Amino acid sequence: MADEIRQYIVTPIETNCYAYISDGSCIVVDPGGSGAQIAADLGSLDVVAIVCTHGHFDHVGGVAALKEATGADFLINAADVELACHSKASVFPGVECDDDAPQPDRLLSEGDTIEVGTAVFTVIETPGHTPGGICLLGSGTAEGILFTGDTLFAGSRGRTDLAGGDEDAIMDSLERLKREIPSETAVLCGHGHSSTMGREIRSNPFLR
Ligand SMILES: [Zn+2]
Repeated sequence: MADEIRQYIVTPIETNCYAYISDGSCIVVDPGGSGAQIAADLGSLDVVAIVCTHGHFDHVGGVAALKEATGADFLINAADVELACHSKASVFPGVECDDDAPQPDRLLSEGDTIEVGTAVFTVIETPGHTPGGICLLGSGTAEGILFTGDTLFAGSRGRTDLAGGDEDAIMDSLERLKREIPSETAVLCGHGHSSTMGREIRSNPFLR
């Protein structure tokens, strides 16, 4: 059976959460909220990992509930653990959010892999929006897919004016993606619509 990607738009600031489903198993990327509802939607699928591209509240707020419902391990880059575990302290004024992230079960760093069914995702460290930001590059049956979190958006990129943001670092990270990611790769972003690497290289002012 072909792999499937489900997209959930969560939190009042419309964060994209994705479930990547392969061979009866799945990983959930960036459950920023609605963890119990996402678990219910996934039903009997085996959730093998909850992976956050970075530690902001709108990407980690649903981890606790989703982990509670599924028993899945929570994975994040070490440099964003503090941010994730205290994410509610940096919620934007007037915005509702769910929970701080629990302590991670596994720390991710450059080159680590996450297997799900017949798909594999490899960690690319892309600091700048936050110190521990990562992208996830698919291979196996997930070949041609890149989850970019808040590093790269269609036509834009993540902001660097929040705590831990670093302008030089995000430009280096974007330069690296431009150099290393094949142009036909689908770019699945943390906010807004999807794109391809080639389209972003042609039209995104931050990749010129
Ligand atoms: Zn963010």
